[in-house]
Amino acid sequence: MLNLFKKKDPICGMTEEKGKGITKYEKWFCSKDCLKKFEKQQKSNSCCHP
Ligand SMILES: [Zn+2]
Repeated sequence: MLNLFKKKDPICGMTEEKGKGITKYEKWFCSKDCLKKFEKQQKSNSCCHP
């Protein structure tokens, strides 16, 4: 069950592929687009919605 230790893209759900994508915030993203979406989500979740 090695798959349990693989990271997953929190945006699109893709499983980590070695040598591909971006690792940031202790997470793995398949592309810059997913990383950007994640960062946006973090901002909008941070707190204090108007
Ligand atoms: Zn992705």
